[in-house]
Amino acid sequence: MCAQPASVSIDDIRAAAARIAGRVLRTPMVQSTVLQVMTGVPVHLKLEHHQTTGSFKLRGATNAVLSLTPAERARGVVAASTGNHGRALVHAARAEGAVATICMSKLVPENKVAEIRRLGAEVRIVGNSQDEAQEEVDRLVVEKGMVMVPPFDHAAVIAGQGTLGLEIIEQLPDVATVLVPLSGGGLAAGVAAAVKSANPRTRVIGLTMERGAAMKASLDSGRPVQVEELLSLADSLGGGIGLDNALTFSMCRDLLDDVLLLSEEEIAAGMRHAYGLEREIVEGAGAVGIAALLSGRLQSSGPVVAILSGRNVDMILHRRIINGATSVQEEVAA
Ligand SMILES: *Cc1c(COP(=O)(O)O)cnc(C)c1O
Repeated sequence: MCAQPASVSIDDIRAAAARIAGRVLRTPMVQSTVLQVMTGVPVHLKLEHHQTTGSFKLRGATNAVLSLTPAERARGVVAASTGNHGRALVHAARAEGAVATICMSKLVPENKVAEIRRLGAEVRIVGNSQDEAQEEVDRLVVEKGMVMVPPFDHAAVIAGQGTLGLEIIEQLPDVATVLVPLSGGGLAAGVAAAVKSANPRTRVIGLTMERGAAMKASLDSGRPVQVEELLSLADSLGGGIGLDNALTFSMCRDLLDDVLLLSEEEIAAGMRHAYGLEREIVEGAGAVGIAALLSGRLQSSGPVVAILSGRNVDMILHRRIINGATSVQEEVAA
């Protein structure tokens, strides 16, 4: 049914790194002296939230766009994401002179629509749910020949995210533990494939929120399952993994050493620490590594790298979190 191979190899990731070089930033890695004192092991922060478009998603999107044939590129790319994948895809497509169409439902707030439009997307507003927006994507693929670039379950996307893992082992060859934010698993699968090919003993821990963690529930069940979507501070970690998941489920199952769930309070504490003590603005999903370190529930025999994966947080919400709020819901009520 599916032409994709069942996994993404280190050679695919190296090829992706060569392909996207010069189009994405090589982001800095900095040592956190305060987290080192608190945890007793060296802690390094991979500042991927400084990536162009504000998240690592640009790596996978750029690799996917550059992997298209000239004819495919001319027909344009399409996706239903209004979040970090959507932003990244629009930027990656425009950089190659291609059109990116983003389909979204009528429920998407006007400021999000305006933002994606400002980046240069063709926006299509259809229906009243994410599912209906996805149906429009499927229609454009069939009727206009546009190429859908999914946010995680796609070989070129995973290989692109894996380039972040290559940078980590170049920047800190003796890394013992890598902390990776986990949702659909494209980032975790790519990073784990890269770092474990350099050293199979390096531990890779997936971090996600307690509220609606589809990959964790799927790993526990031994197959992809659906979970109820709940509001979380880590909104970029929401959503399912797809019941017909082709790549990321099996790669996460085979490559991740553990998955840890964080509460909303812990994620808020991570964002607060990032801002107050590291001077970094990160969104909830980008703060889960710091949150896990602060929780005291992680052990590492050597240097730890925490990936700060994104910074696209509503700044009013961010300010409230910094001032002590601990959930999205309180914010809505406030
Ligand atoms: C998409 C995203 C993640 C999760 O990546 P997956 O590949 O879906 O697991 C983590 N952090 C941020 C900021 C993201 O945008």
